[in-house]
Amino acid sequence: MTARALVAARGALSHPLVEVPCCVCGASAGEVVASGQDYEYETTADVFQVKRCAGCGHHYVSPRPATEDLGTIYPADYYAYRFIENLSPLARRTKAFLDGRKVRAWLKETPVRAPRFLDVGCGDGWFLRILHDQGVPKDRLWGVEIGDAPIEQLRRDGFQGRSGTIEAVDLPAGSFDLVVMLQVIEHVSDPEAVLKKLARLLAPGGVLILETPNLRSADFRLFRRGYWGGYHFPRHWNLFTEDSLGRLLARTGLRLTSTAYLPAPTFWVYSLHHLVKYEWGFRQAARFVDPLRNLPAVGAATAFDLLRAKLGFRTSNMRAVIRRS
Ligand SMILES: [Zn+2]
Repeated sequence: MTARALVAARGALSHPLVEVPCCVCGASAGEVVASGQDYEYETTADVFQVKRCAGCGHHYVSPRPATEDLGTIYPADYYAYRFIENLSPLARRTKAFLDGRKVRAWLKETPVRAPRFLDVGCGDGWFLRILHDQGVPKDRLWGVEIGDAPIEQLRRDGFQGRSGTIEAVDLPAGSFDLVVMLQVIEHVSDPEAVLKKLARLLAPGGVLILETPNLRSADFRLFRRGYWGGYHFPRHWNLFTEDSLGRLLARTGLRLTSTAYLPAPTFWVYSLHHLVKYEWGFRQAARFVDPLRNLPAVGAATAFDLLRAKLGFRTSNMRAVIRRS
């Protein structure tokens, strides 16, 4: 199955795409179950394919962009970089309220009152600041981020940080009671290496909290052939379920102890946006279902997923609570 080439990008990526095996079981054979393009940033005209592993059923993108092309597929205006600073004051206060609740849920997972905390992919330190507001001293609050500028700013503000990838940064083993990595594992080239590094950083009794897209969800089923917002082509390289994540963790000295399902409003709204813009061809109308422009749509999708999660349904965003085996 091949998607029609709908994205009006200037051309293909400059380096050849790279075939990779399944990161969960190592098998190379698989069936193509979805395809699509960079519907969100239109950085390339390439069409990408999602494979379902013949060995274990895990879904992943192969072939995928070469590391030399990361600067193209993560443009300077990539929303994760500037998401919070671009919110309106009301949206920012709402997010702060919801994320305060999120942080309290994390703190319940550890018996340590002021945990030594690490946020992998900390951005501008939004969660470090919330934890500090909830009473954790700044010398216990660490962030890792790829760029130098956010880490320099965090250090000026009294927090701790390292710039670089989590695989490369130098941090003392066994030194963190609580590590969180939100919406990162699906982007990395070697999830097993990242999880092994995190396992080494955890103190005895330490807890790792991951958030990542979940395939076992209604919006995935509806838009699975290509327009699902969770594909985020070509930046989400591995798409997990509770089962596949659990199997990968077992190989890294970690154990998944519980899972919760959180709202995934941008996946719903982006799925609709891609359908309207690329399947139906309504490029102007699609602006009204762009999650970065239409906050009421994002709010409605959030309420819908909160209700569904309360009724026991899985959403397409899972929080996994993980401990050392
Ligand atoms: Zn596999």
